[in-house]
Amino acid sequence: MSVSGTGTYEPGNIFARILRGEIPCNKVFENDYVFAFHDISPKAPVHVLIIPKKPYVSFIDFSKTASAEEIAAIMQATGHIAASLDLEEGGYRVITNAGHNAGQEVPHFHLHLMGGKALPAFPG
Ligand code: C5P
Repeated sequence: MSVSGTGTYEPGNIFARILRGEIPCNKVFENDYVFAFHDISPKAPVHVLIIPKKPYVSFIDFSKTASAEEIAAIMQATGHIAASLDLEEGGYRVITNAGHNAGQEVPHFHLHLMGGKALPAFPG
């Protein structure tokens, strides 16, 4: 089931629970603003989810509400993780799903970082 992109933040969502340490994850990175972990159901050899620590539902919510520092931090973290997982030479993809039409399942803004194989053509 996917979520509305305009909903209010649900503190019981699964990523909020991961951030609170209530649910285990395979962490790859953390700083003051950002947390990242391997996707539990990877769609590529490398599939990492990168999330802000603060509660934002989706991309628009994050872009409108987060501080410039937080926005910079998630971009910098994503690049750092991609490089640290040796994705630069082979290539990689960064996407976000927002709302129902994109099939967003977890209503806490996240970036998917994928690589490690030739990825399917971008869906149109
Ligand atoms: O963008 P979307 O909301 O659809 O992606 C949610 C992602 O969260 C999925 O790729 C799913 O495999 C992942 N997930 C996870 N750990 C969980 C629950 C979901 O990595 N405990």
